[in-house]
Amino acid sequence: MTKAAFICSEGLWQRGHGPTHPLKPERLRRTYELLQAYDAFDGERSLLVPARQATVEELLLFHTEEYVAAVESLSRGEHRFDPWRYNFGPGDNPVFPGMYETEALKVGASLVAAELVVSGEVDVAFSFSGGLHHAGPARASGFCVFNDAAVVIHWLLKQGFRVAYVDIDAHHGDGVQAAFYDTDRVLTISLHESGLYLFPGTGFVEEIGVGAGRGCAANVPLAPYTNDDIYLWAFREVVPPLVRRFGPDIVVSQLGVDTHYRDPLTHLCLTTAGYVAAVEGIKELAPRWVALGGGGYDVDVVARAWTLAYGVMLGREFPDELPAAYAEKYGGGTLRDHERPHIGQGLLERARRYAETQVRELKHRLRIQFAG
Ligand SMILES: [Zn+2]
Repeated sequence: MTKAAFICSEGLWQRGHGPTHPLKPERLRRTYELLQAYDAFDGERSLLVPARQATVEELLLFHTEEYVAAVESLSRGEHRFDPWRYNFGPGDNPVFPGMYETEALKVGASLVAAELVVSGEVDVAFSFSGGLHHAGPARASGFCVFNDAAVVIHWLLKQGFRVAYVDIDAHHGDGVQAAFYDTDRVLTISLHESGLYLFPGTGFVEEIGVGAGRGCAANVPLAPYTNDDIYLWAFREVVPPLVRRFGPDIVVSQLGVDTHYRDPLTHLCLTTAGYVAAVEGIKELAPRWVALGGGGYDVDVVARAWTLAYGVMLGREFPDELPAAYAEKYGGGTLRDHERPHIGQGLLERARRYAETQVRELKHRLRIQFAG
C-alpha cells in the first residue's frame, strides 16, 4: 500500500503573475478544492502537509547569490537591479509584489516533498505548485522564477542519491537538463512538443549530455497533434528502459499537463486517459518518488488531471462524477475525459511518423553510448 503526501498552503495561490498571465493561481486552488471535495486527504495513507518557504541557502543550491538578491529586491518594488538582466519584464516573466515569497514557497514545497520521501515517511509526495523547469541559475524563463526541480535534485545529490528526472510537460525541461548535463548521477528524460514548434526551442534527440553526463540526457520531441496512442508508445519505448538501466534511488517527475488537447498554449492532443497512463508508467519505475506539478493552462483540465495524478499516487480511483460541492461552484461533469479530440488522418499519420523517427534516432544514439 502506498502512502502519499500532498504539499499545499494557501500562500501558493494568493499572489500571481497578473490577471492576463496564463499561469493563473486558481489552477492550484481549484486542484486543492477538487481533491478536498473527493475527501482525498482522509485516512492515514494520505497526508496534507503545508509548504514552507525555501531558505536563501537552499535557493543557492542552484541559483546564484546575485539572482536571489535581485528577485528579492525586485519583488519589493526596488530599483537596485535591472529586471531585464534576469529576463524579467512584461510578458512571460513579469515582476509582481510578493514574487520572492510566493516563488520561494513553491521551492520550499518541493523540498518538503523530497524530505518526506527521503525520510521514508511516505512513498511519494506531490508538490503540485512546483515543476518550474525553465528557470536558469541567474535567469527567469517561461513563467519560472526559481527552478524547484533543480534545487531538489541538488539537495538529493548532496545526500548521495542517484536521481532520474522524468518530465512529461508539453515544453522541454531545458533548465533541469542544463543543470545536470555533465553529470552521470542524474538522468534527465523529457518528452515534449518539438522545439521546432514550441518554446523553449530546445530538446532535440541530439542533446544527450556532455563529458561524464554523455548518455544521461534523453529527449523525445513530438509533433503537433500527437495523441494518447502515439505519446504512450513513445513513452514506453524510451522511459522504462532508460530508467531501469540507470537504476535511480529516487525518481523526480515533472507532471505538467499542458499536453492536453484543450490546452491553449500547446498543440499536443492528449486526454486525461493518456496523461494518467504516463503517470502510472512513472509510478511503476519509481522506487521512491518526488512528484512535481508544472504547466497546464486550462484550469478545469489542470484540476481534474492533477486530482487523477494524486489518485494514481494513492492507488485510489475517484468516482467519475465530479463531487456536488465542486460541481455547484464550477459546473458539473466528469473527472475523466469522455470525448477525444478530432484530428485528421493526415495529421495523425504525420505525428506518428515523426514520433517513430525521433524514437529510433534516440535509441540509436543512446545504445551506442551505453554499448560496452
Ligand atoms: Zn509547459
